[in-house]
Amino acid sequence: MLKKADHIFPNLHAEEPVDFKSASKRGDFDKFKEIIAKGKDWIKAEVLASDLRGRGGAGFSTGKKWSFIAPHDGKRPHYLIINADEGEPGTCKDREILLNEPYKLIEGCIYAACAIETKAVYIYIRGEFVKEKAHIDKAIAECLEKRIIGPKADFPVEIYTHPGAGAYICGEETALIESLEGKRGMPRFKPPFPAQMGLYSCPSVVNNVETIASVPAILKRGASWFSSLGRPHNTGTKVFCISGHVNHPCVVEEEMGVPFKYLIEKYAGGIKGGWNNLLGIIPGGSSTPVIKAENCFNLNMDYDYLHEADSSFGTAGIIVMDKSTDIIKVIARLSKFYAHESCGQCSPCREGTHWVNDIMQRIINNKGTLKDLDTLKVVSKQMIGHTICALAEAAALPVLGLINNFYSILEERVIK
Ligand code: SF4
Repeated sequence: MLKKADHIFPNLHAEEPVDFKSASKRGDFDKFKEIIAKGKDWIKAEVLASDLRGRGGAGFSTGKKWSFIAPHDGKRPHYLIINADEGEPGTCKDREILLNEPYKLIEGCIYAACAIETKAVYIYIRGEFVKEKAHIDKAIAECLEKRIIGPKADFPVEIYTHPGAGAYICGEETALIESLEGKRGMPRFKPPFPAQMGLYSCPSVVNNVETIASVPAILKRGASWFSSLGRPHNTGTKVFCISGHVNHPCVVEEEMGVPFKYLIEKYAGGIKGGWNNLLGIIPGGSSTPVIKAENCFNLNMDYDYLHEADSSFGTAGIIVMDKSTDIIKVIARLSKFYAHESCGQCSPCREGTHWVNDIMQRIINNKGTLKDLDTLKVVSKQMIGHTICALAEAAALPVLGLINNFYSILEERVIK
């Protein structure tokens, strides 16, 4: 579906060398000076017009996010922070960009830095991404040497990488900022939002790796080119991660709104055992509700289509499950994960994630009761919308998805 010429990440699978010279041949840093010369207002307007939505899961408009930063007052510096803490189970797209397209991320950082008037960019990178950090550090060193970044560059900006220490919650923007400041990575109550009071209490923007790495293509090819892909409010291309019971798990770039069936057949070699063997999918990383097989056949993959399917596009980390899957065990494993990762500040999350986990463990050990199913539903619902950050919701939604889509299987599993 996506034409070769429309790919933003042609070297996603490292078919060519990952070095400055090869990246330049692929078009990275093309028209660089020209774009910088057009200035911050043009860059902001173009990104806003492209309708680029954040690729980290929430899907918020990137141009709008940048517009929340007030013009520089000459007193407090501004900061750009790249969220490379990719920790959502089922998601491994930013990893491929960091490994194989790091120059696109650096180029995007410079344009975004120009747009929000900052001279410092921090790439907060997942601690386990040792090789990925080495790749981005090497690319930064090359760009420093070429005077594309650094004090002697045309647009002087410094880019630093900072490894995290392994907490899922540090992928939440305010927790990430706390961690970057050297504190425990715990989310802050909003407002104030990072655009008002972010890193070191200064105006900051936190953007995902794929989001920022998409910006150079938008500025070079134009907002109208980007928004011609997909459909209104769901524009451009997306890097999908396909794992689970498919013949060839893969990471692939496709057009937004691509049919799910096409994506699986063309890139992942189909479902193991064929389409009749499909049980369901988790479409956008572990925090998105499961979709039953019968609702997958005519499914298209973008933010609004997935919303209509009572799930969420999230990070586009698709986990495919065939009929050999114990779906209750899968969701119980996720409940255990979220109970472990809750930072404990809010009682609905601190108590709720453990309560849900206890019940789920009882059910998979054939000790659950019908009353447990009612409690599970009530507790999960109470966890939504009553906490500082979205982790509680991320823990509750997969459980509610299980109850809504597979209640009969749950009923069979409990003591009557
Ligand atoms: Fe911490 Fe959970 Fe509250 Fe988020 S929702 S701040 S993870 S306790």
